[in-house]
Amino acid sequence: MASPEEAGGPARSQNGRDGHSTSLPAGRSERGHRLTAIGPSRAPSAAPLSWQRAGSGGGGRAEAARRGMEPAGAPPQGCAPAREAEEPPGSPALPAEEPQGGQPAGAPPGEGAPPAAAERERGRRGAGPQGPPGRATRGRGRRAPGRRGGEEGGRAARRPRVTVDSSKAKTSLEALKISLRQLRWREFPFGRRLPCDIYWHGVSFHDNDIFSGQVNKFPGMTEMVRKITLSRAVRTMQDLFPLEYNFYPRSWILPEEFPLFVTEVRMMKDSDPSWKPTFIVKPDGGCQGEGIYLIKDPSDIRLTGSIQSRPAVVQEYICKPLLVDKLKFDIRLYVLLKSLEPLEIYIAKDGLSRFCTEPYQEPTLKNLHQVFMHLTNYSLNIHSGNFIHSDNVNTGSKRTFSSILCRLSSRGADVKKLWSDIISLVIKTIIALTPELKVYYQSDIPAGKPGPTCFQILGFDILLMKNLKPMLLEVNANPSMRIEHEQELSPGVFENVPSPVDEEVKVAVIRDTLRLVDPQKKKRKDVQ
Ligand code: ADP
Repeated sequence: MASPEEAGGPARSQNGRDGHSTSLPAGRSERGHRLTAIGPSRAPSAAPLSWQRAGSGGGGRAEAARRGMEPAGAPPQGCAPAREAEEPPGSPALPAEEPQGGQPAGAPPGEGAPPAAAERERGRRGAGPQGPPGRATRGRGRRAPGRRGGEEGGRAARRPRVTVDSSKAKTSLEALKISLRQLRWREFPFGRRLPCDIYWHGVSFHDNDIFSGQVNKFPGMTEMVRKITLSRAVRTMQDLFPLEYNFYPRSWILPEEFPLFVTEVRMMKDSDPSWKPTFIVKPDGGCQGEGIYLIKDPSDIRLTGSIQSRPAVVQEYICKPLLVDKLKFDIRLYVLLKSLEPLEIYIAKDGLSRFCTEPYQEPTLKNLHQVFMHLTNYSLNIHSGNFIHSDNVNTGSKRTFSSILCRLSSRGADVKKLWSDIISLVIKTIIALTPELKVYYQSDIPAGKPGPTCFQILGFDILLMKNLKPMLLEVNANPSMRIEHEQELSPGVFENVPSPVDEEVKVAVIRDTLRLVDPQKKKRKDVQ
């Protein structure tokens, strides 16, 4: 679901020293790309706030990544039972590959980092920058204090701080600020005359003229994940690898494929008279459920009128979604495309689950128009009288995905296989987008000319079917990073209030993205 500004184990662990890395290395796909992914933050089958160590479930996820082009539904191989690790609640979504600014080598990433909400409170009270994750544990006996430690501390202190231009961060600004404070990086909220290490853009690659450093957007990404372009890219792969790409609903592009849509539906109905499909029409470039409607027959398509004549994608509607508390919900997962060449992909360990606000019924002519029953968009359901602002991660109309996994696990669902299927879906989707993304990249940042390198956080919207098969709904180039929501205090009086669920997930995603792209870490590696 787009917002208006939108948008496995491995060969080796990224942080073998602490044994906590969940970075999943990488296999080589048939195209020779290096695929890297990160597993779920919490052991799916364990308690809500425990993490899975690399090397246990991670092996399964790595296997999933390695199986890049195998059927998405195949069970993961090599999954050992999940073990609980020591990381505390609020640990980062992505592991640090190396200690940051003096973090003990043995410390789990994020240990000692203040929970986002507490950090935000400090910010409000005007407290100074918080030490980097792990700092609090320094000298508490994890490593014997001594000369070596002192020298390292001194070196860390002399190291120049990473500079980040946040002048174009827009609605991700607050979560970015908290992340930068936690990392003790330097923020330039109004830009800087000298170049910065990282440029954080709220909307697109082209928000600034940048000739060096890193920018958090790829050129062409917004275009590539629009509904029609994404559909075309995935359908091309569906033609080549139908079984591998069966995680995307059958789709047609309107108006150009309307005759094809009519013909194919008629043929399918003729061959299976018991097939009673529903379709969902989604305008290209639309977001937040705008312009979306359900139909039972191709003849119900509205091809005239200003909104209706917009190009759109019409898709087979998934009639049997998995329900929780009798409600339909979808999953927003954050995926970091760290590099195109080699292809490096990370999946944040937690995401959001967004709930409908009317109990679900399979579509009938009578209920087709009930958006609170069929569309999971937060922006729509917030207007329902049944919407519940979540004050913790397990309840309400927006919850963490890990809380859903825990619930499914307690019901005996095979959540490891589910996670493996999700990783497969993510990798295959990005593979489908990669060739054209490279064309955009080479045209905007030609080899040999000065330019930044790029990385990007993408929002994957996924629907789980009743049988737990994940289906891709859409990809957002600019997933909302807001950590507040509007609340109506009294009729007509609104106030922005913190959203603990958004904070928990999104701050970790941004902070740990920054750690993964840390330019100084790269320099240290190059020197080594
Ligand atoms: P938008 O960008 O406008 O949010 P989406 O593609 O995310 O458009 O669709 C909006 C909502 O409609 C989704 O969050 C989901 O609840 C529902 N939806 C979309 N496609 C399907 C589908 N093929 N089957 C069932 N539900 C769908």
